[in-house]
Amino acid sequence: MAQARIGLIGLGVMGANLSLNIAEKGFPIAVYNRTGSVTDDYVASAGDLAQQLFPAKTLEDLVASLSTPRAIIIMVQAGAAVDSVIDSLTPLLDKGDMIIDAGNANFHDTRRREAELSKLGLNFIGMGVSGGEEGARHGPSIMVGGDKKSFEVIRDILEAISAKHHGTPCADHFGPDGAGHFVKTVHNGIEYADMQMIAEVYGVLRDGAGRSAADIGKLFETWDKGQLQSYLVEISGKVLQTIDEKSGQPIVDIIVDKAGQKGTGRWTAIEALSLGQSPSTIEAAVAARSWSSVKDTRIAGEALFAELEPEKGAAKISDDDLEKALLAAKIIAYDQGLNLLSAASDEYDWNLDLASCAEVWREGCIIRSTMLDEMASAVREGLPQGNLIFSPRFAQRLVEGSSALRRVVASAALQGLPVPAFAAALAYFDTMRQGRGTTDLVQGQRDFFGAHGFVRIDTGETDQHGPWASDIAHS
Ligand code: NAP
Repeated sequence: MAQARIGLIGLGVMGANLSLNIAEKGFPIAVYNRTGSVTDDYVASAGDLAQQLFPAKTLEDLVASLSTPRAIIIMVQAGAAVDSVIDSLTPLLDKGDMIIDAGNANFHDTRRREAELSKLGLNFIGMGVSGGEEGARHGPSIMVGGDKKSFEVIRDILEAISAKHHGTPCADHFGPDGAGHFVKTVHNGIEYADMQMIAEVYGVLRDGAGRSAADIGKLFETWDKGQLQSYLVEISGKVLQTIDEKSGQPIVDIIVDKAGQKGTGRWTAIEALSLGQSPSTIEAAVAARSWSSVKDTRIAGEALFAELEPEKGAAKISDDDLEKALLAAKIIAYDQGLNLLSAASDEYDWNLDLASCAEVWREGCIIRSTMLDEMASAVREGLPQGNLIFSPRFAQRLVEGSSALRRVVASAALQGLPVPAFAAALAYFDTMRQGRGTTDLVQGQRDFFGAHGFVRIDTGETDQHGPWASDIAHS
């Protein structure tokens, strides 16, 4: 019986496209979907690629059609569905076989699954795939975590199907257990920040300057040819210039302003906080989506505070300032994302190569942009204090860009226009260039009420206390 090189379970949007991509690159693939009719329709529409497909009606058939050791990709909803598929699959597998979860898993689940399956002698790969439907079909960015030897077994397939940056595959192995899924999670967190900051520019131009959707879309189209070239700026330009066929209105004007989220942005913020990090641009983007969901509250607030006039003195924001501000805020968001990756790498002993992270994001994924190539080079050259914003490649750009960001945030604040991610980026930047901050007072407060102790500047002595304990005792 002819044998398939790899298997895939879950022929939804991502699974169907990824498996056709694999088949197209010449790898015979066995496919299975819980709802059998989906498999039939999928094979019927696969055209010539059907020759490379081994459709299976049962998991037993799927397993039987694979060469050994077996490698099976699971591409179903993250969470309980993955555990359910793994539970059904494991009794059918032999030691040395490999399961690859290619969905958007929480990396804690990946770590747990890897540990559980290794006890059964099975290999587990947690693999982040980015690029949506189009990427899955024609070249996604692939972030792999798990046993390196297992990665080597499927490396040829992953490199063949991935996006390429001047011929270099945007697929890499980042470390053991949850490393790949964590890199994908932070990718999505940065994606949230990128999208929010673009939306803030749109808001400033729409509500502050009264510009039309098409006009703003054209501006994004222009920016996409410059330093801001990126998939997200490109599609924002396209969305804003699209007319709704039904109403004849710009399509963005008939879309309800309540943003969905499936969890990866929130996971990024949660994991960051538990690692003692605070990627404020990502947190702001997650918050903005959450706030967007309470539309009734916002409508009530608009009516309640209707008499509030914009403050006087708001400067007109130029397109040039907005472009520079977006550039600066974007660099800051990536700085925060890379810092988070670095902290997780230390915590979980992943030894993550941050430059490789930036490199696999250069093509195929949603945050792909020209700037990522330069970011990867900056990381390879060594980041002063581990910070992208201090890199000679970006520091000078921030000198100019941060002034524009400051003008945009100040003007937006005076006009009453919310720019949470821009403001968060600016506060982070200003904090990181302030040698003496204000937490000396916070430490004083903590010592006052809780005797938490502080470090003296003059002598370096630790666990010092102020004289207030006796003040309290005598008061
Ligand atoms: P989808 O189109 O909704 O398809 C879901 C698939 O999962 C279907 O084949 C479904 O089978 C199967 N499934 C669900 N529950 C199952 C269960 N308990 N047992 C067996 N099969 C089950 O989802 P998708 O968009 O392809 O997403 C798949 C994964 O990729 C998710 O983790 C998602 O977060 C991730 N991802 C998605 C994108 C994107 O742009 N869509 C991008 C990157 C990553 P039935 O046909 O039987 O229902």
